[in-house]
Amino acid sequence: MAPIRLSEKEPVGNDLALPTHDSSYELPPNRRPSPKKLIAICLAGSLFGFLSTQLLFPSSSRLSAGGATTQSVCQQSPILTPRGNVTDLYSEKAKERIIDWLSGAVKVPTEAYDDMADVEGDERFKVFGVFHKYKTLSVEKVNTYGLAYEWTGSDPSLKPLMLAAHQDVVPVERSTVLDWTYPPFSGHYDGTNIWGRGSSDDKTGLISIMSAVELLIEGGFKPTRTVVLAYGFDEECGGKVGALALGKYLEEKYGRDSMLMLVDEGSGMTERYGQTFAEPSTGEKGYLDVELSVATPGGHSSVPPPHTGIGLLALAINTLENNPMSPYMTRKNPLYSAMQCYAHYGHIDGEIKDTLKLASGEGKRGEKALKKLAGLIAGLGGQERASVTTTRAVDLVKGGVKVNALPELSQAVINHRINTDSSVAELQEEMINVLQPLTEEYELSFHAFGKEISDLKDARGTLTLAEAFDSALEPARVSPSDTDSPAWNLLSGSAKATWSTRKGADHTDLIMVPGLGIGNTDTKRYWNLTRNIYRFGYLLASEAGGNSYR
Ligand SMILES: [Zn+2]
Repeated sequence: MAPIRLSEKEPVGNDLALPTHDSSYELPPNRRPSPKKLIAICLAGSLFGFLSTQLLFPSSSRLSAGGATTQSVCQQSPILTPRGNVTDLYSEKAKERIIDWLSGAVKVPTEAYDDMADVEGDERFKVFGVFHKYKTLSVEKVNTYGLAYEWTGSDPSLKPLMLAAHQDVVPVERSTVLDWTYPPFSGHYDGTNIWGRGSSDDKTGLISIMSAVELLIEGGFKPTRTVVLAYGFDEECGGKVGALALGKYLEEKYGRDSMLMLVDEGSGMTERYGQTFAEPSTGEKGYLDVELSVATPGGHSSVPPPHTGIGLLALAINTLENNPMSPYMTRKNPLYSAMQCYAHYGHIDGEIKDTLKLASGEGKRGEKALKKLAGLIAGLGGQERASVTTTRAVDLVKGGVKVNALPELSQAVINHRINTDSSVAELQEEMINVLQPLTEEYELSFHAFGKEISDLKDARGTLTLAEAFDSALEPARVSPSDTDSPAWNLLSGSAKATWSTRKGADHTDLIMVPGLGIGNTDTKRYWNLTRNIYRFGYLLASEAGGNSYR
């Protein structure tokens, strides 16, 4: 074992260990076990092969950007087998320790609430201090609870590999605690699964990285390439205090575009069309919460106008819901490349396959087919539809204070996830265009996103659109997913190597395709660190069911 010194900012002498059962956190007395709801997971040992491949990648095999520039459809990267002996990572003994570590991590209720912002002043953050009872590498505490580790490589000329995860979990609704099969922060291991909030999202990611690092250190491994680990603590609330500070810190320390590649939580592996595909998200949709406010004169309910403020707000919501954004995709959308791969390696039949073929052509015919393709994909519904449209969900509404008084201010907040081929500005413009006729019909002044669209003299009220919660986020730049990309090759080759050496491996290939994140991760705070951002967890979807994973 090659012990790694703690930084001077950490108390020396506490140099070890990931949390174990001993580090359990006392739960409030009202949490008792009860059957039903479960969130469970058993670690996939193969995660360790994936990480160790990345760590073991030798300097002599420095990544180069060589290779053909014209690619055949869905060209695959070669398998990258780690040098050195990593079989210890797969041993029963290692498995037991890793189970213990993940179980211990789940016991610490690192809940992140939307209204948490003051790291020093909010008592609820203190639990993250309990979670920090592991310290092996040089660590910097960023904004108190953010963790930035450096495992220094022997070749400083190589750009570091950055691995990220988040420490926080979605809060457990206290009234549901008795419905859980095991208490949400029990970290109970039943011989197959580890139960509890965070056992999947994202303590699996965090503990798998830490376990692999820990075991490699114990085996005496020394990396050639520096490895940077970054763990935010409010991802579930947008990473506004955790990853934001970590991103700034890392950019200051290492510089802009300083990382070879960033791998954070994200999508996994799926069996579809008769083939297993690994689908790291190379892009992420944008985001915008919009507040709709209708201000109207007050008055007594006994002499109401035809539409109160609430009625007008309802009309506005109805108009927006009846005018959804049209499906649209360019060839930059990761789903376009993914579909090409599905058609090439899987068994896609019918119209989509034919349209795909036409869409890969140039000129008007190709563009027309691409348009049709977006419509066909949207027709599949669910995530597919969300991948080619800007989605809209009315999530908050308020208005009125008294049953005999006309509401003077009625408000709603609409959540949007912006198409990767669109933008915040395009969405704002579309909302204005959709609502303008309504404001004219009902004689409302109209203000939108800081602009005065119309200001009527005898207006019956004012409709205002404004960004809510400081939420605007453009769609992420799409990371490369072709074999000209050294980073993609490293990620692909590592995943393929892990797949090919898994327990009970057969001769089936793992096909790497780019995916699109329809939600957001902490990576949105790390855009400046690298152009190669992948959101990926080595986990088979077929072995996961809803919130339960094994
Ligand atoms: Zn997560």
